[in-house]
Amino acid sequence: MAEKWNITLVIRRQKQGQPPFDQEFKMEANPDENVIDLVERVWAFHDKTLNYAHACHHSTCGACGMRVNNVEKLTCITPVRSVVADGGTLRVDPMRNFPVISDLAVDMGELYRRMELVGHHPVNLDRKEAIQSEFRPSGPAEPGEDFIRLSDCIECGLCMSACPIVGSTGDYLGPAPLAGAHQAGVKGNPGLLELVSGVDGVWRCHSAFECTAVCPSNVDPGWRIMELRRIALAEKWKSWFSPNKSAEVRK
Ligand code: SF4
Repeated sequence: MAEKWNITLVIRRQKQGQPPFDQEFKMEANPDENVIDLVERVWAFHDKTLNYAHACHHSTCGACGMRVNNVEKLTCITPVRSVVADGGTLRVDPMRNFPVISDLAVDMGELYRRMELVGHHPVNLDRKEAIQSEFRPSGPAEPGEDFIRLSDCIECGLCMSACPIVGSTGDYLGPAPLAGAHQAGVKGNPGLLELVSGVDGVWRCHSAFECTAVCPSNVDPGWRIMELRRIALAEKWKSWFSPNKSAEVRK
């Protein structure tokens, strides 16, 4: 018979225009189920007004990112026993650094726009043209221009939520977009190099790797940001010592 624990689930609730509050639910939990299962039970049996995002339930879609006991988690692969003990309290909050739409659901549009800015479209498109026109700042892509996705990234936003610099400096590009720029390749792309080495790029990172610590995939945005710094410095040195630059200096 499945093991049963008694736990208290605390969920941060917030509807637009109203102040946030914590709501407690006493419930039985199988320690081997995942946190998203508890959230779904609250919706199914306690409160149908609870909003949250979810889809695949097997860590592929990136929809169910939340903060569990103040740490960013993909809740579909976070077993209850890994975050609470029998008799304990489990806290679930929406991700930080994104506007709350309702309860645990946040607006991730800014992440998608920034991924687009560095050359990655976050949606695998059937409705390619419609979505391109809607989100792509420069309008629809040219015929033959393909979308490239950042390998392994499921666009869950956990890294953006965990990053204290995204939290304190809204214009900082952030871990996933910078990782995207790294994969896209900044060498030979002066516009992208300028963007990532500019005031809101890699030099704002404080190198503590919170992003890498919470990433449920193999993206390692922290490492990619450090690599971008190395490349940006090397390119800067190259530009200083290029023959054209030396001629300018001699004039
Ligand atoms: S880099 Fe990792 S944590 Fe960030 S959005 Fe992609 S999969 Fe999620």
